[in-house]
Amino acid sequence: MDVVLLGTGNPLPDPDRAGPATLVRAGGQQFLVDCGRGALMRLAAAGAFPGMLTSVLLTHLHSDHVTDFNDVVTTRWVMSPVESPLDVIGPVGTEAFVNRTLAMLDDDIGYRIAHHPDLSWRPGTTVTETHDSIVFDRDGVRVTAAPTDHRPVHPTVGYRFGHDGTAVVVAGDTVPCEGLDRLCAGADVYVQTVVRRSLVEAVPMARFQDILDYHSSVEDAARTAARAGVKTLVLTHCVPPPAPGTEGEWIAEAAAHFDGEIILGPDLTTVST
Ligand SMILES: [Zn+2]
Ligand SMILES: [Zn+2]
Repeated sequence: MDVVLLGTGNPLPDPDRAGPATLVRAGGQQFLVDCGRGALMRLAAAGAFPGMLTSVLLTHLHSDHVTDFNDVVTTRWVMSPVESPLDVIGPVGTEAFVNRTLAMLDDDIGYRIAHHPDLSWRPGTTVTETHDSIVFDRDGVRVTAAPTDHRPVHPTVGYRFGHDGTAVVVAGDTVPCEGLDRLCAGADVYVQTVVRRSLVEAVPMARFQDILDYHSSVEDAARTAARAGVKTLVLTHCVPPPAPGTEGEWIAEAAAHFDGEIILGPDLTTVST
């Protein structure tokens, strides 16, 4: 499997880091996990377009993780020569979110259908809501969802991809919890969104400090990785964005608690199992 970090950023706009989005390639299929700011630009850079996606999986409905979902829907629809419903998997609430997105796009849908004689259908979707279940099992790829803990954002889920004897976990925003441990057990690659506690604590803004109580710190992610016996820990969605040249400090902070490989890279970093 290949894991492509399409967007390693977070809610804060950054000229070099797109919003949270990760592409998992397995068994000839492509899964997009979350679709933050700039997801389709990075997807194109990775050689993929929305029409090529097997499924979009949402970890939760925080805006930074779904802001470009509408772009996936529209672009897949207008680029498809035939009807091609988008398969969407997410926590409970995803179906309502998808329906609201389609309602938001209603004007544009009308314009394009009126303009293109060969485009006679509206964008279609199939939605699977999950809490703790196998959400995909086809052609040698199995995807399992388990609940994570990002309260008060609730419900939230993480995903484990299994293929050819290897496993990749894309966790989304969460503090350490039982569901996350279960997903990560023995995984080859564990991708975790993180905040760096010491740097966040140094910023005297109450609203910024609030992020500490519902994200994994670098240390938390490393401890989860060690507890689960994963091979490679991948840090993403880093808050605050690492200043160029300081990536080693983040890795060293994780390495104090985890002996495996630790990766913190720019957008489009690819990790293979
Ligand atoms: Zn979140
Ligand atoms: Zn987030």
